[in-house]
Amino acid sequence: MSVGPPALRSPQGTKLDEHAVEGELTLQQCSVCQTVQYPPRELCRHCLGDELNWSAVSRGGDLLAYSELQHSLEPFFQEQSPWRLASVKLDCGPVVLARLTASCPSGNIRVEVSHTTLAGSCILQASPLNMENKP
Ligand SMILES: [Zn+2]
Repeated sequence: MSVGPPALRSPQGTKLDEHAVEGELTLQQCSVCQTVQYPPRELCRHCLGDELNWSAVSRGGDLLAYSELQHSLEPFFQEQSPWRLASVKLDCGPVVLARLTASCPSGNIRVEVSHTTLAGSCILQASPLNMENKP
């Protein structure tokens, strides 16, 4: 029997799950200043506006860094190991943390970020786009 992620989500994190569409990327966007933000919050991080909508946004971004988790005390991550955790600067603005689908060489790597479901929970997943052009 598989186990779920080790922690419960915040109320805003739960809303991310509710608005996620498999294979797309839906994030909060301020209806006043159009800022896209992640993680989800109750107010806009730029103008403190409270009119936040969930919008499908551009999935492209640049891989900033990643690390590969080889060992964990959490049963969920033991089953999923190795777990590659990436930080990605999205073209639409925010930096997100996402599970990386493949090992990458160092250098500028373009990725595509989307929602996917793992063990009943929605996560962000980053897939490299231009690895064939890299050493
Ligand atoms: Zn705003």
